[in-house]
Amino acid sequence: MKRVQDKVILVTGGAMGMGQSHCELLASQGAWVFVADMDAAKGQATVDGIRKNGGKADFISLNVTKEADWNAAVSRIVERAGRIDVLINNAGILILKPVQDTTSEEWDRIFDVNVRGVFIGTRAVIPAMQRNGGGNIINISSIYGLVGAPSASAYEASKGAVRLFTKSCAVDLAPFNIRVNSVHPGVIETAMTKDLLSTPEMRAAVLGPTLLKRPAKPIEVSQAVLFLASDESSFVHGAELVVDGGYTA
Ligand code: NAD
Repeated sequence: MKRVQDKVILVTGGAMGMGQSHCELLASQGAWVFVADMDAAKGQATVDGIRKNGGKADFISLNVTKEADWNAAVSRIVERAGRIDVLINNAGILILKPVQDTTSEEWDRIFDVNVRGVFIGTRAVIPAMQRNGGGNIINISSIYGLVGAPSASAYEASKGAVRLFTKSCAVDLAPFNIRVNSVHPGVIETAMTKDLLSTPEMRAAVLGPTLLKRPAKPIEVSQAVLFLASDESSFVHGAELVVDGGYTA
């Protein structure tokens, strides 16, 4: 028996980076994965790769900031698969600027994707999860939702909001048997951190607080997500799972 055998899992931002890695690992462990993203070409490539390896996946076109996209995505998945067992709110964006240079437009853009996207996505899947007798929601926050970092005020505020949104949902949704947890990755090698890790000096600065003195590969976060998505974590609820190589230790 694989670890998430036959679970129907929706992953936002599944086209690349950590989202892609989550989709690949979950599919290899028996899930039917719905790869949801704005980038159809990369999303379909993720799906093709999973199918080539014998896994089950479909692409869903989704901009997490659009309620109509969420409603269409949930309807399509329920129509095809009958239910949604797990939602992974992974899509996110980063704008690095000191607070004094951050524009209101940049602030709003970050909050639209990183916070409002998580809220409307969560709200969209609740009825289907209730009908199914329960569910599981995993919100990807960050260590930058736990501790301060330079030039990241809007991003940090958004990830801090996701952390407490998760805990609030854990309270509201427990009566429906819907588990809700957050994951807090440290510095991970993806397109998002490419510039940050591009020179030895920047790399040293960004990785300074990481006790293991290296960035992680996406799969190292996916292993934690797999645990939360599986029934192995059946009593883990309202928790924050930190995967940061000791950054916040
Ligand atoms: P990434 O930039 O490599 O990939 C992000 C994915 O999200 C892309 O496929 C993109 O198309 C998609 N996306 C962006 N906006 C979207 C929208 N509005 N609707 C749908 N899809 C959208 O990012 P990543 O590094 O893999 O990060 C994934 C998550 O992990 C994000 O929430 C990020 O904030 C968080 N995180 C990243 C790091 C890191 O070091 N990379 C650390 C902590 C937390």
